Amino acid sequence: MKIFGSTSRYVQGRGAIDELGQHITGIGTRALILGQEFPIKLVGKRIEASLEAAKVEIAAIDSSVTMSTYPTIDALVELGKKNKANIVLGVGGGVAVDTGKAVAHKLQVPVASIPTQCATNADASALSVIYTEKHEWLEYLFYPKNPDLVLVDPEVLATAPAKFTVWGMGDALAANVEAKACVAQPNAASLLNGRPTAAASWLGDLCENNLLQYGYRAYRDLSKKLVTPFVERIFESIKLLSSLCAESAGLAAAHAIHNGLTFIQGVEANHGELVAFCVNVQKILENQKPEDIEPLMAWQHKLGLPITLEELGKIDVKELPTAAEKACDPKDSMGNMPIRITPGMVHDAILAADNWGQEFHDSH
Ligand SMILES: [Zn+2]
Repeated sequence: MKIFGSTSRYVQGRGAIDELGQHITGIGTRALILGQEFPIKLVGKRIEASLEAAKVEIAAIDSSVTMSTYPTIDALVELGKKNKANIVLGVGGGVAVDTGKAVAHKLQVPVASIPTQCATNADASALSVIYTEKHEWLEYLFYPKNPDLVLVDPEVLATAPAKFTVWGMGDALAANVEAKACVAQPNAASLLNGRPTAAASWLGDLCENNLLQYGYRAYRDLSKKLVTPFVERIFESIKLLSSLCAESAGLAAAHAIHNGLTFIQGVEANHGELVAFCVNVQKILENQKPEDIEPLMAWQHKLGLPITLEELGKIDVKELPTAAEKACDPKDSMGNMPIRITPGMVHDAILAADNWGQEFHDSH
């Protein structure tokens, strides 16, 4: 079956945060607001004012969410129950929106994602990534429906460091690369456990084109804290296009290798940086033409995305077999690759990507 899922409503524009109340009118009347301290400080007052104007009550605010783990989620579910919340607002980065979705699902109430930065594309999807307390990838938690609202205020996102959006671009770049693998593998399943629609594939192509064409300009504009049409296009590419593509077409090697790498010591890179490097590893596994991979590496390099292991942290290569083994965990998405990928293949492709990246640095 082909399955396409989407957030019910995506709102993006300058000052959108001040219109939050009107967009959740009719969805919920008592909001549990959760996130990290900084984002809540950044937009909390404006959210409160907007909710008040729309006669939406605040059930509780928790600004101590730092990890999407089961203990965090369970504690917030209790908070929501105690205060009779009937809508959850996840405010901040990937952790906040993933936690928001999980809490809302357990409370059986709607959820809105209100990102304050653009490092991930977690906002619109019907899943959360759950980590252990030691920040190892534990599992994906899937929900029957996507968030009711994703609200993106470019002026807010632009206050975050420009590199956050670069990380988001790294993550978004993987969407189309992995989608293409899923299309090529007749038994590959998307995150909705279906086959890709043409829509999902096209959104992936559009996203990749936007990233490669406008990504660098957007980065430069964001470095000056400017919100330009380039910036808006990149925000939409990350927050909407890459998310819909990844979810409805599927993940493959890049995210599986990312997940494998979270199990070993010394990895300091964040999600988007790691995924960007893993895109090159997937392309090597796919036996793509070197002349097609090089421009991608040039783009990554220009944006400051990592293309070597050294840029990912202090990784001991002796631990790579563990990462490669984990990357091929049948619970993960490696099985969506068009050919059977073994841990040995992953191990060597990681080192080959690293070697290539080093050569690239030496010659640029
Ligand atoms: Zn990702």
